[in-house]
Amino acid sequence: MSRTAALRVRAAVAVLLLGLTGCASQEPLPPTPIPRAENAVDAADMSHLPVLTAPTACAGYVALTFDDGPTEFTSDLLAVLDHYKVPAVFFNNGVQERARPREVERTKAAGHQLGNHSMTHPDLLSMDLEAALADIDASTVVHRDLGHEPPTMFRPPFGNTSPELRAAVESRGMIEVLWTVDSKDFEAATAEQVAEQSKGMTDGGILLLHDGKALTVDALPLIIEHYWAQNLCFGQVVTADIELPTAWFGLTHRARASKQEP
Ligand SMILES: [Zn+2]
Repeated sequence: MSRTAALRVRAAVAVLLLGLTGCASQEPLPPTPIPRAENAVDAADMSHLPVLTAPTACAGYVALTFDDGPTEFTSDLLAVLDHYKVPAVFFNNGVQERARPREVERTKAAGHQLGNHSMTHPDLLSMDLEAALADIDASTVVHRDLGHEPPTMFRPPFGNTSPELRAAVESRGMIEVLWTVDSKDFEAATAEQVAEQSKGMTDGGILLLHDGKALTVDALPLIIEHYWAQNLCFGQVVTADIELPTAWFGLTHRARASKQEP
């Protein structure tokens, strides 16, 4: 072998070795282990919750709705709802969703409905319509950017709405959802008081609660017990065929509780 030929062979071997080394570095990385804290919801100890029995036949449906989240209480709400296999609707604010995307994901993964409750929770009637809609749209954008379908339901902060606002929201593919009973959980001093103020829903009823207070979490089993005792089951919120009365300044809406689709 000439000296030139020997050099060519060495060069070829070097290229081959480099190639093999390159291949080795492209081996897939092992999966990242999930920290134990990731499973906090599943691992939560629910032994303190009362044993409740769901109706064997539903005489009607009512719906639980939680406004203003997600917050540090969302996980606790989800744990109780999951324990009793009860669905709910979470009317979230865009700024809260942006700060707590994992809670949004968990809520969605648990099968609950998610609604738009504006971006910054302003009194939309104190703004001109254009600014109000910009705030509502900003919340939808956050929700979409987190990888979720745009919400199909909207609840105005403080229940402050107008025919113009409602029409504009509907043109964006969302129904306006108010409530038929207000738990007044934000002003309440005890879970028992929240539960007492949550009574009164009939078939199709929608209860206003908030994501943001520990006593709302504590009131949930009492609320569930009360309605199950009347053979009322918890369902999802759907579009109603007709305008239905709400508990807010005599307003109506086209929303009602109904059996949850599988
Ligand atoms: Zn609110």
